[in-house]
Amino acid sequence: MTTARAATLYGPKDLRLVDRPLDELAPGFVRVRFAAGGICGSDMHYYSHGRIGNFVATAPLVLGHEVAGVVEAVGEGVTTVAPGARVAVNPSRWCGHCDRCREGRRNLCENIYFMGSASKTPHMQGGFATWFDALPEQCVPVPDAVPFEAAALAEPLAVCLHAVNRGNVAGKSVAVIGAGPIGLLTMLAAKRKGARETTMVDIAAAPLAFASRLGADRVVDLSADAGGLAAIPAPDVVIEASGSTKALASAIMAVRRGGTVVLLGSLPGGDIAAPINPVMAKELDLVGSFRFDTEFEEAVGLIASGAVDVMAIVTATRPLADVNAAFELALDRSQSVKVVLTA
Ligand SMILES: [Zn+2]
Ligand SMILES: [Zn+2]
Repeated sequence: MTTARAATLYGPKDLRLVDRPLDELAPGFVRVRFAAGGICGSDMHYYSHGRIGNFVATAPLVLGHEVAGVVEAVGEGVTTVAPGARVAVNPSRWCGHCDRCREGRRNLCENIYFMGSASKTPHMQGGFATWFDALPEQCVPVPDAVPFEAAALAEPLAVCLHAVNRGNVAGKSVAVIGAGPIGLLTMLAAKRKGARETTMVDIAAAPLAFASRLGADRVVDLSADAGGLAAIPAPDVVIEASGSTKALASAIMAVRRGGTVVLLGSLPGGDIAAPINPVMAKELDLVGSFRFDTEFEEAVGLIASGAVDVMAIVTATRPLADVNAAFELALDRSQSVKVVLTA
């Protein structure tokens, strides 16, 4: 093993499988053999536009941050994981010593690196590669009975658990805008965290039908009725998971007085227009939700115990070798919810 075959983005719609040389495994690191990787909305943004929000890929970027695999080798000094371990890989590499890390919000680490993200330059390469290196702390063991495809989805589930934690959803009515994989997992996470009632909101019928089958108490199709959100009892919490400016406006207008709006989706970069006065007049809590902290381990536990069935959102698996076709399939919302790459 001297090279890894890696799905590398060179520009919008220019994703190539290239052989990248593997350095000798550094002390303190582990080498992971790729087994499964979820294609995320942010991967698709990079693929389509070369950027997501304010993060712009300025150099070739190996995509992928929802990955699971097998520890192939461990570097000098590694004692907590051993070769052969099946692991879900936490894509976050936080410093552990900055103020944010020390106050228990490691997702806000001043020095964080995140796999497959252009948030930092040089970019940290992602996990859609036959082999990649990680720190042992990033590798969370998964039981043999858990398929790698499910283990790979610990990352998006962690994102959603963090969002429902930020929204304090226990006992509340919760509306989620955007019935893509993140929206759907947010709905499942909200139920898990004791939400009283869940409403899924979207502008397309197919994802909403999927949401109903997955257990949403109510669905609202804004393409059929733009005012549909006004017709339901005002939710206590609205979680914006679509990344659309219009949806942010809808969330602020729809949430009850004194309610909470959670921004989970990546909105377009730069300045956007939104109705902000109601945040004051309705005394809204407008909170952001970015990645996750300890929710990653929690997500692995919920998947391993069967408490959250992440495989219910997987609509296709494709080999890493067919990564371009897999991305095109994932982009077609009429056919796909979640597409997972396999070895
Ligand atoms: Zn993701
Ligand atoms: Zn830090």
